[in-house]
Amino acid sequence: MGCPGSGKGTQTARLLKHFGSSFGLQATQVFSSGDCLREHINRKTALGKQVEGLLEKGELVPDSVINPMIWDKVERLVKAPEKSFLLDGFPRTVDQAKTLDSQLHEYGKPINFVIDLDVPHSVILQRIEDRWIHAPSGRIYSLSFNPPKVAGKDDVTGEPLTKRPDDNADVFANRLQKYAEATKPLIEYYRNQGVLFQFKGATSDEITPLIIQALSAFLQNKKVAVKSKY
Ligand code: ADP
Repeated sequence: MGCPGSGKGTQTARLLKHFGSSFGLQATQVFSSGDCLREHINRKTALGKQVEGLLEKGELVPDSVINPMIWDKVERLVKAPEKSFLLDGFPRTVDQAKTLDSQLHEYGKPINFVIDLDVPHSVILQRIEDRWIHAPSGRIYSLSFNPPKVAGKDDVTGEPLTKRPDDNADVFANRLQKYAEATKPLIEYYRNQGVLFQFKGATSDEITPLIIQALSAFLQNKKVAVKSKY
């Protein structure tokens, strides 16, 4: 979890890299709800057409649309022989979390480690303005931290980079507000379950080692309290 632009995608990629070797977590065991929705929009599916306007305005997609779309994908991760999977951007409301919990219950693979990224809004605004993506692959570039080798071009395919339509200041304010409204109860929901781990920091580089430390300890059955940096 983390508000728009807090670096969920970045942390996901880093966790995958770090835990890939030690715990066998592979790319196929990660699911991003935002990427999945953008893929539908790019492919112009019926669902994509239905949600396109919502993503542009920074509105959450209704639970009734999200839940079935997600479960179709998540069930594949849950059924896989590997023990772990990582969800990026889902669940985002208590309704989604409850639905997911009841579905996961059947498989005996509950959500047991929820990462909440807490990044100052001023930092996020700059990051959103800097962010460019390669839409077909979901690769993310930042003009400040991770610029493409050739300006405006994807490093792997050389194809043009684009802005996400929801990455602009006006839309951003709406997204932050919606995010806070929707996730306050969700944070409480996971806190009450004892699975919430919050990480504060101004940059992804600052936060990554904190997550790795906490998650490593957790995976070795040593839950640790993570202290905020400021
Ligand atoms: P961000 O964290 O920057 O919002 P995401 O890629 O996670 O980026 O999500 C982009 C958009 O997709 C959200 O603003 C929202 O419209 C929609 N979305 C993604 N995941 C969900 C979800 N679990 N529930 C409802 N809407 C979602």
